[in-house]
Amino acid sequence: MGLLLLCCLAEAEYVKYKDSKQPLNVRIKDLMSRMTLEEKVGQMTQIDRTVASAKVMKKYFIGSVLSGGGSVPAPKASAETWIDMVNDFQNGSLSTRLGIPMIYGIDAVHGHNNVYKATIFPHNVGLGATRDPELVKRIGAATALEVRATGIPYVFAPCIAVCRDPRWGRCYESYSEDHKIVQAMTEIVPGLQGDIPAGSRKGVPFVSGKTKVAACAKHFVGDGGTTEGINENNTVIDRHGLLSIHMPAYYNSIIKGVSTIMVSFSSWNGIKMHANRDLVTGFLKNTLRFRGFVISDWEGIDRITTPPHANYSYSIESGIKAGIDMIMVPMNYTEFIDGLTSQVKKNIIPMSRIDDAVKRILRVKFSMGLFEDPLADKSLVDQIGSQEHRELAREAVRKSLVLLKNGESADEPLLPLPKKSSKILVAGSHADNLGYQCGGWTIEWQGLSGNNLTSGTTILTAIKNTVDPQTEVVYVENPDSNYVKSNNFSYAIVVVGEHPYAETFGDSLNLTIPEPGPSTIYNVCGAVKCVVVVISGRPVVMQPYIPLMDALVAAWLPGSEGQGVADVLFGDYGFTGKLSRTWFKTVDQLPMNVGDPHYDPLFPFGFGLTTKSFQKN
Ligand code: BGC
Repeated sequence: MGLLLLCCLAEAEYVKYKDSKQPLNVRIKDLMSRMTLEEKVGQMTQIDRTVASAKVMKKYFIGSVLSGGGSVPAPKASAETWIDMVNDFQNGSLSTRLGIPMIYGIDAVHGHNNVYKATIFPHNVGLGATRDPELVKRIGAATALEVRATGIPYVFAPCIAVCRDPRWGRCYESYSEDHKIVQAMTEIVPGLQGDIPAGSRKGVPFVSGKTKVAACAKHFVGDGGTTEGINENNTVIDRHGLLSIHMPAYYNSIIKGVSTIMVSFSSWNGIKMHANRDLVTGFLKNTLRFRGFVISDWEGIDRITTPPHANYSYSIESGIKAGIDMIMVPMNYTEFIDGLTSQVKKNIIPMSRIDDAVKRILRVKFSMGLFEDPLADKSLVDQIGSQEHRELAREAVRKSLVLLKNGESADEPLLPLPKKSSKILVAGSHADNLGYQCGGWTIEWQGLSGNNLTSGTTILTAIKNTVDPQTEVVYVENPDSNYVKSNNFSYAIVVVGEHPYAETFGDSLNLTIPEPGPSTIYNVCGAVKCVVVVISGRPVVMQPYIPLMDALVAAWLPGSEGQGVADVLFGDYGFTGKLSRTWFKTVDQLPMNVGDPHYDPLFPFGFGLTTKSFQKN
């Protein structure tokens, strides 16, 4: 009798969705059949970590939490602090009736750029210049490890925007103006998530376990095509143009198993992407057969109206009906939850739409093993900023540099520079500043805290590490020309460029480098042989200074490993990078992209001089 009771009790407790041996669809169906409307709406809600707590997770059945650009924990928080925070929220979710794990997401757009001492890789504009998708895949794998090391299983990357106008403040997040390069660089998706198993069904999300993260291709679609590069603005282009320039990289990401796709703040021909049912449901879900979940951008649903949140029930209805599955940071999450729940109860939004959204969210959570392994452990902590990852970033820096000028003719090159000279000058505001090297999205959203924002090697330190011990390296940030003339320098290295920015803050109509950059070029290059290294997220105004300088290197936003710059300047490795963007002469030529009629650039797309290395490649 006792035995019989035991057996039946055990049978009664068997819960299909908790059994990892059950097929994915069976688990999803079983779980969904048990969920209330409130539990479903909770899954569709993503809140910022600053308003999250175990209690809130439990009370509202919240499906996801994020650290947005401006809401990472204290900059020097340890990996252990991050893990404890994520686990605390997760425990709230696990203590709900059905115990559905939440998924924590973060912007890791050039390495785990939120964490002090993480490896900071070059921003995408530089990676585009490497023309090396396999390298980008390895960067994805390293990023996944560092992100997982802080307990986080989901990143809002890659940005697969095709930036058609460098005046856009997010141009550096784009691999190229050319969609074929962006398509090739979607190799970062299997780097982040793992390679999809042979024979997988197209469009099904895939993440291969605890050292990988779910990726998010963003921002769907046409974000890089807005008029004058104004962030979040209107992209005016016909359907053929949209599908042939801005859409192809989504196709590549989907066949590589990307788990999620983020909708763009921008509009296409006047229609907000967050309300565009034709593209989000019609094209992305039906035509491209994407089976992961679609996430809104930050307050994206509120911003369907201008001003944001003006007619909230309309915004909820049009965003959810467009096909958005998870809502990133509704301006007021309880209002969103109440609003969506009541619209479903009133049959304004059909239950089938909610079920589609929840099915997709659960599919990602099940397929990445979150139900089996919801809590983070501390076993990967040593991966953060590891020597191996720093070497990889250094390799990426070397390959991303584009040599635009080298002497007046090929017979008299200035580069590579000799390691042995009596005395050399290093000048410029960007020579000894890690913050400038890393750019936006580094520790803070705008990346403004200067040289001490994280650990790494500045270009100045790298130069000192590389030259012969007999060579004297003098650093003066902005010397006057008399000083330069009277000091018998063998040559000078001038490092100048843009200051960090992110999103709208980086929109610029003039694209000039700020003072004292231009004065430093005049003062130094007018007095001694010089190479100028430009640190920038995009091509900037350079034409007026070209005649002054002997050599010019575009170093983009190289990240924490400035050593890669010195490796190539001094010939340990050759220059191999090619422009992934057109370098304009004057801003009134913009937008100007390869293939345009009247194409008249300073340096064309694909341009890049080479040098021989003395030693290593
Ligand atoms: C950006 C996204 C980012 C999100 C979360 C938004 O402002 O447009 O790219 O993923 O914030 O930080």
